[in-house]
Amino acid sequence: MSDLLQVQDLVREYALPREHLFKPPGKVHALNGVSLSITTGRSLGVVGESGSGKSTLARLVMALDVPTSGSVHLLGRDLHQLPPAELRAARRDFQMVFQDPYGSLDPRQTVERIVTEPLQAQTQAQGQATRAEQRERAAEVLSQVGLRTSDLGKYPHEFSGGQRQRIAIARALITRPRLIVADEPVSALDVSVQAQVLNLMQDLQQQFGITYMLISHDLAVVNHLCDEVVVLYQGRIVERGAPAELFSHAQHPYTQALVGAVPQVQPGRARARRAAAKAA
Ligand code: ADP
Ligand code: MG
Repeated sequence: MSDLLQVQDLVREYALPREHLFKPPGKVHALNGVSLSITTGRSLGVVGESGSGKSTLARLVMALDVPTSGSVHLLGRDLHQLPPAELRAARRDFQMVFQDPYGSLDPRQTVERIVTEPLQAQTQAQGQATRAEQRERAAEVLSQVGLRTSDLGKYPHEFSGGQRQRIAIARALITRPRLIVADEPVSALDVSVQAQVLNLMQDLQQQFGITYMLISHDLAVVNHLCDEVVVLYQGRIVERGAPAELFSHAQHPYTQALVGAVPQVQPGRARARRAAAKAA
């Protein structure tokens, strides 16, 4: 099987504010040489504590930030080497869902505007859809996330937290992406709503063959959706494996601490239950 995403030796340093005029500025090594790949249709979980470099990795994979060194290949293209117009066109293949559905949706825009926004980036030359086609497509993705066509004219404040995250997922779906990077997509939601959103993401994966890179500080969340997990610690991958393996024999002390933080989780149970329900 082919790799959809290949991340090679990714490094991102940030300059710290200079403390003294005659001293060189310090640096934060947010990412310290991260390599990973994701096979089409599979999903990778990225876990790690706050400050471990998860969002930096997400921004680099989404080409929203530039690496200090290293590369990101999606469908064989080196994203950080593409000319601007080609990168803009390539963006239809990868979309992002952010943590905070309150902050990431413009409160002054209608759901229709919000959801069709990624289509505006596609230029005329690439066959930009007409307004009517865009509306039709928006209605389609809304129904795919469990919302209604009548929601198109509403504003974000008219929805619950879980519904807003569904709107954010609809916006990500509208370009029919191959990869969705979700950075803490359920962290701001109540636990009962978290499962609904994760189940939706799983259904969409089965329906459309979407590949996820799912970022979370919570191992239980990635266990729900991912075939493989990498553990980030201080900008490096310190461990990788299937979620169940990490739960049963975590090698790195940091992973053991993460597993210890979710004692109530029984790996594979939710997945087995869903499989049983589908078979019945
Ligand atoms: P996480 O998402 O795992 O919490 P981040 O990727 O946001 O971690 O941050 C990793 C490290 O890089 C942290 O030490 C953070 O303070 C630093 N960092 C992130 N973005 C910037 C930035 N724009 N400028 C300076 N430092 C940054
Ligand atoms: Mg983060």
